[in-house]
Amino acid sequence: SNDLIIKDLYARIGDKEILRGVNLTVRQGTIHAIMGPNGSGKSTLSYIIAGHPAYEVTSGEIWYKGHNLLELEPDERSRLGVFLAFQYPVAVPGVTVANFLRSAINAHRAEEGKDPKETAIPAAEFRKLLREGLNLLEMDESFARRYLNDGFSGGEKKRLEILQMMLLKPSMAVLDETDSGLDIDALRIVANGVNRMAGPHMGVLVITHYQRLLNYIKPNVVSVMMDGRIVREGGPELALELEEKGYDWLREELAGAA
Ligand code: ADP
Ligand code: MG
Ligand code: MG
Repeated sequence: SNDLIIKDLYARIGDKEILRGVNLTVRQGTIHAIMGPNGSGKSTLSYIIAGHPAYEVTSGEIWYKGHNLLELEPDERSRLGVFLAFQYPVAVPGVTVANFLRSAINAHRAEEGKDPKETAIPAAEFRKLLREGLNLLEMDESFARRYLNDGFSGGEKKRLEILQMMLLKPSMAVLDETDSGLDIDALRIVANGVNRMAGPHMGVLVITHYQRLLNYIKPNVVSVMMDGRIVREGGPELALELEEKGYDWLREELAGAA
């Protein structure tokens, strides 16, 4: 199925158990937000979906398009259509933004037994895509000639991530948005990119600590993570309720029910 289905996922780093039975389904065609207090395991979940080697998955499965992602290498996950911004190097000396984006696209287009020259994106088509993306993100074309993450501001890194997403056209995007360092302009531009791409053929999992981002990216579903588990699921109104009342009421409610 083209839903991302996480089943009973347990994970640890060193001897610290962080995820303690995560169950979550992100349906194709929806924008799904995960909210939760700091330290609840949200970033850990996104790192595990990306295949970060520091985290040990002790049990559980992550199904996408008939594959358990946990059995695939990060680049195979990417070629299945899963986009994770931080899968990519933070700084690569001597590689321009344009070259980086072009190789990412070509890695997706490569086919076994075929000459990479045959499957590579034609130069004119790439330039057109790149220009469209830059325009949409309100970025100057000179950005494409800069070296990767060489002195990029937080907002520029964010824009690059979104640009990358727009060029790769994933079917499932996982975005871990700390909100930190993003001014309102950057937030709005990032949200425009996500909103522009979201649609019936795409799923988006947006992870955030603050409700603020969700004023710009409207989720269909909101899940709350606490202490390494999803403890509540609701509609967009749940995000507003959490913004207004914080997380303690939910913690108390859960403790009362236990
Ligand atoms: P969130 O994104 O919800 O704020 P994280 O996934 O970043 O939560 O962290 C969950 C818990 O795991 C926290 O208690 C954090 O301190 C711990 N943790 C995360 N990464 C590491 C690490 N590399 N080493 C040790 N503990 C970690
Ligand atoms: Mg955190
Ligand atoms: Mg986090």
